[in-house]
Amino acid sequence: MSEMLKISLPDGSVREVPRGTTPADIAAAIGPGLAKAAIAARVDGELRDIGRPFEGDAQLALVTQRDEADALELARHDFAHILAEAVQKLFPGTQITFGPSTDDGFYYDFAPAPGRGPFTDEDLPAIEAGMRRLIAADQPLVREVWSRADLIARWQAQGESFKAEWAAELPEGEELTVYRAGAGDNAWLDMCRGPHLASTGKLDPAAFKLTRVSGAYWRGDQANAMLSRIYGTGWLSKKQLDAHLVRLEEAAKRDHRKLGAEMDLFHLQAEAHGSVFWHPKGYMVWRQLEAYMRRRLDAAGYVEVKTPQVMDARQWEKSGHWGKYRENMFVIPDEVPNTEDEGPVISGEADWMALKPMNCPAHVLIFKQGITSYRDLPLRMAEFGCCHRNEPHGALHGIMRVRQFTQDDAHIFVREDQLVDEVRAFCDLLDSVYHDLGFDSYAIKLALRPEKRFGSEAMWDQAEQELRDAVAVSGRATEAYGWEELPGEGAFYAPKLEFHLTDAIGRTWQVGTIQSDRVLPERLDAHYIGEDGEKHRPVMLHRAILGTFERFIGILIEHHAGKLPVWLAPVQAVVATIVSDADDYAERVKTRLKSAGIRVEADLRNEKINYKVREHSLQKVPHLLVVGKREAEEGTVAIRTLGEQHQRVMPLDEAIALLVGEATPPDLRA
Ligand SMILES: [Zn+2]
Ligand SMILES: [Zn+2]
Repeated sequence: MSEMLKISLPDGSVREVPRGTTPADIAAAIGPGLAKAAIAARVDGELRDIGRPFEGDAQLALVTQRDEADALELARHDFAHILAEAVQKLFPGTQITFGPSTDDGFYYDFAPAPGRGPFTDEDLPAIEAGMRRLIAADQPLVREVWSRADLIARWQAQGESFKAEWAAELPEGEELTVYRAGAGDNAWLDMCRGPHLASTGKLDPAAFKLTRVSGAYWRGDQANAMLSRIYGTGWLSKKQLDAHLVRLEEAAKRDHRKLGAEMDLFHLQAEAHGSVFWHPKGYMVWRQLEAYMRRRLDAAGYVEVKTPQVMDARQWEKSGHWGKYRENMFVIPDEVPNTEDEGPVISGEADWMALKPMNCPAHVLIFKQGITSYRDLPLRMAEFGCCHRNEPHGALHGIMRVRQFTQDDAHIFVREDQLVDEVRAFCDLLDSVYHDLGFDSYAIKLALRPEKRFGSEAMWDQAEQELRDAVAVSGRATEAYGWEELPGEGAFYAPKLEFHLTDAIGRTWQVGTIQSDRVLPERLDAHYIGEDGEKHRPVMLHRAILGTFERFIGILIEHHAGKLPVWLAPVQAVVATIVSDADDYAERVKTRLKSAGIRVEADLRNEKINYKVREHSLQKVPHLLVVGKREAEEGTVAIRTLGEQHQRVMPLDEAIALLVGEATPPDLRA
């Protein structure tokens, strides 16, 4: 008599089935519609193959295409396998290594056959065709459990040295699984945890596209072999793919690196990897943004400080950063290097110092100077703090991901009884800043305690609940704000609220954050004197609204497609002449605008007006004031506004009033 298993379904019903039954069997027993729609299963919460037998009593939820996140993950993983199989069939001798799913698709790393050289974009059409043949063949994807010895032997026999190396190193006790595509001698195997769709034919052959090829080191280590990485984007339908390709095209047009060069805002070069060279126009945007933030912070009761760039390594040990952050810190020996012909030589015996990767410990050191009373709290200490983090070169991206950056950082020292109110006030300030900067939509998430953490359970319970309460009190713990909790995603010392902006083309960017930290005040022994005359620990709120100036300006450029709000635009108006007869008048117009506080230039070059218009449009100058003989005689200007077809002729005074209105930062408008 076979043993019976109890399978509970989401509707609360329980089915008794014999051992060996699969989720697919249950779907079929429920009905032919579900049997067709079910593509995978969640068994006790874990995503699994639809054809994998239950191992005991279980909770079952069938997964269909409507469970989009799961369906996409499965499809992308399948695309990666099919990519690998297609490449090996087309290019015998290629070794396979690894290929995960990504945010919009998948990639796979290959070691090309000796003498062949890396793959190139020219190979992609043939590989795509090969993938479509495999999808058309509708091969079953079957999960198999192998012994380590058999697996290593199989890879070695096939000349798959990377796979053999990996199989030998998988942790003891881990079940080693292989997915078999196709049958007989023609079967193709990959070592993989799964899960997968039941067969290759479940994929839509029109829902993927191979996008590019790049180099990648085996296991991400420069000391290892260079592999060829083929990227693709993969979706559930052609419609989804097409929408994604349109988004990519739109994103490419808005790319801050492209616009940054066209608008002459900044550049990067290898002599300072990941550190931005701000040009005058780019730095004007920065200055406007910084001045705006400073006014907002002043009005919200913050004090501003400036702290050292370099501190003794022992200070970083005390704060815990040396332990957790060392790999990302730039260290400096505290000595004069010996200069020899080969360059500076250091003894290695001097004390070590480090460039600050964050501002928090320095702010605690200021807090600890003198005596702080409970009446002095909350103390809101802000710094536009320049920090350095040693990110690997491969992780850098334009001005969005850099090694030197300036945070709009602040630490708020509060008493326990002030915490919820203070976090709510922060939420209100951040909301107002985002709207001022042209973002109408953002999401709020609460990142909860991670697996590895400092502090007691009681501390985490309290800290999480306070942040939850603060968002609720602010009226934003709602669907409209994308409110959700993210288990396991908090910092090791504190839970945090994350604020994710949605940009004009629907992408999201995590920028703002507030973390409620009871660990660092303890480690660095910060205290205040309470009403009772005793010493108490303050709670420290780490918070930022923009995140960093570099990344936020990158986001602003992409969100506005370079057409920054007039108050942030580096050049707000250009006075352009049609004929040289108007030169004197143009200069007078420029002077008037300048004294009204407008950032203005004059373009008196002997060029056709259409040429001038094109050039200043490319620079995204918001307003072009065109002047000719007639305008000079009548004291008018013809205004051409970026993105508008028609020009408006108006008296100079009226034009100045219009520009001054638009150029006034939102917090200074009446
Ligand atoms: Zn796989
Ligand atoms: Zn901090």
